[in-house]
Amino acid sequence: MAAPLTFLATCDLVALVRGRSLETPAANGSTVGWVPADLALSSFGAIWDENPFGSLGDLRLRPVPGASYQMPKKDGAGAMTLLLAQQVLPDGSTWVNDPRAFAMDALEELKSEFGIELTASFEHEFILHGAAYDGSAFGLDALRAVEPFGSELVHLLRENGLEPENWLAEYGVNQFEITLGATDALKAADHAVVLREFVRDLARIHGLRASFTPLANPESVGNGVHVHLSLSKNGKPITYDPASPGNLSVTASKAFNGILKHAAALLPFTAPSQISFLRLQPHRWSSGGAFIAVQDREALLRICPVNTSGASPAEKTFNVEFRAADATANPWIVMGVLARALISGLRDDRGIVHIGATDEPLPRSLTEAIASLHQDPEVMSWFPKELLDTHLGIRSVEAAALENLSDAQKCERYLNVY
Ligand code: GLU
Ligand code: MG
Repeated sequence: MAAPLTFLATCDLVALVRGRSLETPAANGSTVGWVPADLALSSFGAIWDENPFGSLGDLRLRPVPGASYQMPKKDGAGAMTLLLAQQVLPDGSTWVNDPRAFAMDALEELKSEFGIELTASFEHEFILHGAAYDGSAFGLDALRAVEPFGSELVHLLRENGLEPENWLAEYGVNQFEITLGATDALKAADHAVVLREFVRDLARIHGLRASFTPLANPESVGNGVHVHLSLSKNGKPITYDPASPGNLSVTASKAFNGILKHAAALLPFTAPSQISFLRLQPHRWSSGGAFIAVQDREALLRICPVNTSGASPAEKTFNVEFRAADATANPWIVMGVLARALISGLRDDRGIVHIGATDEPLPRSLTEAIASLHQDPEVMSWFPKELLDTHLGIRSVEAAALENLSDAQKCERYLNVY
């Protein structure tokens, strides 16, 4: 049997995992070469021509300590180690445009300025095609129809330290969901990158086809990526206060106010594809408006229920869910902008947030969201110029590529990539 390879991986601005492999013994402690302009690749392969990097420059992919994962195997064959890597300059120093560095920077600032650590977990919904029959929404039959995929996925996640929590058949036809336990925010984003690869790869091994596309077709139920967030200080949770509205402590309330304040300008980063806004419409249980509310699935920020019957104390599990992300967004960029928005809320002290549904709308298209971003200089200032320009340049490439297609055809294009 051929010796297994090790793949050094980055996740780019269209949330696709790219990198280079080495023979496993050679990979130990190694870095591999990488190209700055790769950051400008769009979902369908074309590069944004006017990207600031051009043909110049070199980078290295340097493995992140501890971020080593074993890809699924079939009958013992196909072993491969996945090492998440950071894009660094050839002298080993930070490349400011690296998406993971963007998240790290924001999380470090939250910690250094306010002493706050962010805890997170990602919930992923996806479509699984190719089973012998379609089961019912939330049905045992739907789960059984894709066995042993589900039990192997849960096992694979457990073996790789991703702490699976729930594996379920979702509401949509052929739609499933997998949730992970909460962990520190950077690791949670790492896990989101890896989870999507595990799911797609394991499905392939089983002759199934998985897709995290935001919408398989205009009539279908959307695939959300929901990000659960909570704050702690010196290892102690500080989000929960049973004496405050919505059980939200004053500090958490101010922080989440930052996400509401910048909501419209965050969406080009959390829902960046040409079809993301077909999902982000009212009455789809994705995100109907820019508000925070208790247990409301139409909210941008949903205050999750406190499980008082469980063994864990309420303050340990209490969290707020950001619902307007999808899997065309890079998880590190998502985490970076959410952390930056929390910092902004804590800094500008707008006071505690109004809890409850409002009619404050969210942008209804990516074009509207990008226009909102241009009117929010604070959000623009969070990014190194080259990173921001590249992120937006890619969207213009995709808009041009899909210009004359119907919504159904656009959905089909993303279904095939994600
Ligand atoms: N499928 C919905 C979405 O697009 C979420 C449904 C749920 O609350 O789980 O975000
Ligand atoms: Mg769900």
